[in-house]
Amino acid sequence: MRVDIRADRKRPTILVTAGPTREKIDPVRFISNYSTGTFGYEIAREAKRRGCRVTLISGPTWLEVPRGVKVVRVESAVEMRRAALKSVKTSDYVIMAAAVSDWRVAYPQKKKIKRGTARKRLELVENPDILKDLGSKRGRVLVGFALETEDVEKNAVKKLKEKNLDFIIANKLSPGGSVFGENKPSLLIIDRSGHKTVLRDKTKRESAKIILDKILNFNI
Ligand code: C5P
Repeated sequence: MRVDIRADRKRPTILVTAGPTREKIDPVRFISNYSTGTFGYEIAREAKRRGCRVTLISGPTWLEVPRGVKVVRVESAVEMRRAALKSVKTSDYVIMAAAVSDWRVAYPQKKKIKRGTARKRLELVENPDILKDLGSKRGRVLVGFALETEDVEKNAVKKLKEKNLDFIIANKLSPGGSVFGENKPSLLIIDRSGHKTVLRDKTKRESAKIILDKILNFNI
């Protein structure tokens, strides 16, 4: 069922995170991932189109911010967490589409590391799990994404439970294939009661509409 928000109803507030995070090695280098932010931006655009109030916390991307969406730009996972914890208090829905780096560099250097003098190993520490932290603050609909290379459904269900989510949207990265950018990955949506929906051969814009229909219809 299509859900459009009318002016006479309270406009839901949606927090969307999108894009990769960058974890600094030194002032000119970082570790990151291939996320382009496309999915999160499509969800933010569609939510705005339906009359929601939308805050988009975005890691570095080249994408244009949808008109009317409030954007908070961040770089690292720690910055994203800080921004998310601040915005979550006023959000009815949280859609965590960002590809948060699981690790950051333990000792980022203030000056550029010189060739030859470089340390041979990078020490990494685990980043906070933002979604898990948000999952402990109930009272809103929480949606996570999962990108897996194997056992998609099993791993997705595990994350749904561990992170105390209402929905998880999972897809598989197959060898040679890509789920990043303008591709059309197959998606498996699982809700907290175990109900499953498979989306195939849909653009991210089309999938964003279906996902929002489900989420906006969901009662906590
Ligand atoms: O990395 P993982 O597969 O556990 O990501 C699943 C979900 O958790 C995603 O929605 C992602 O945005 C979120 N996540 C997070 N903080 C992390 C890692 C992932 O919020 N440090």
